[in-house]
Amino acid sequence: MDELTEVFSALMTVEYRVIGCKRVTGGCISEAYKVLVEDSAGKQLRWFAKANQPSFLSNFNAEADGLERLGATGSIRVPRPACVGQVAGRVWLIMEWIDQSPQHDSFFRDLGTRLAELHRCTSGRRIGLEQDNFLGAATQINQATGRWTDFFAENRLGFQLRWGVDQRLVDGSLRQACERIIGRLDQLLEGRAEDTSLLHGDLWSGNYLCDDTGQPVILDPAVYYGCREAEFGMLRLFGACPPPFYESYQDCFPMKAGWQRRVKVYVLYHLLNHLNLFGSGYHSECQRMAEQILRS
Ligand code: ADP
Repeated sequence: MDELTEVFSALMTVEYRVIGCKRVTGGCISEAYKVLVEDSAGKQLRWFAKANQPSFLSNFNAEADGLERLGATGSIRVPRPACVGQVAGRVWLIMEWIDQSPQHDSFFRDLGTRLAELHRCTSGRRIGLEQDNFLGAATQINQATGRWTDFFAENRLGFQLRWGVDQRLVDGSLRQACERIIGRLDQLLEGRAEDTSLLHGDLWSGNYLCDDTGQPVILDPAVYYGCREAEFGMLRLFGACPPPFYESYQDCFPMKAGWQRRVKVYVLYHLLNHLNLFGSGYHSECQRMAEQILRS
């Protein structure tokens, strides 16, 4: 509690007295706390605070930036970030605390509609972002290129492939398959709409929740502008959203036929990222997915 008192007094613009804190589990990367504070009028408020080592400052800045960008669209709820900074030996990200409730019957319909709304209201021709950010603990390169397929070939698949080869996690056969996919990307992604949208970028079941009013909330983004079919790569891998999610998404902002085939390219990107972050246990899944893509 002493540490959080110091953190809140150093980083928050409003004066708060920290009166309680509790560790929050479930995250994979940082240490998280629910912090109870009292303002000068005696009103009690709760905040969500994450801590990590100093080298994580740019990750927390990128996360706060992503939350702000998503929040500014007004399409889907995200926790409002309050501040990022270093206090003593650790860096902190403090954001709005979200009270959760169990997912109700129409939760996935609402999540689909809200996500479609995010993609629809940001729809345009932008690709990438002004700055790089992070996908989990991995760097994500966002340097814009003129075409989506070039962007995805260079900054997504190409980046992961080079990293995997450097780490000796990608063998010759996976390398060859990925290189063939990169070479055929125009053909493999043909049929999509050319428009791009602001993407959450790392959407899976650990990064959405149901708030106490029943509304979906998305967390931990890795935002950039890109083809919205890419949003479903990670969800396909670790999301298991039921059919009503996809139905309501399609009702609100339909994707072109063939997206279920094209999405495999985006699944492969996330699989390669997992291979690079978590090791060779993901190699055979990468290989299988790459072969499936090449057969399609
Ligand atoms: P990490 O970045 O380490 O993966 P997360 O941001 O996923 O950590 O947070 C860890 C856990 O805290 C999550 O499982 C989530 O349920 C919960 N959580 C995340 N953000 C909030 C928030 N703003 N309010 C309340 N709980 C949150």
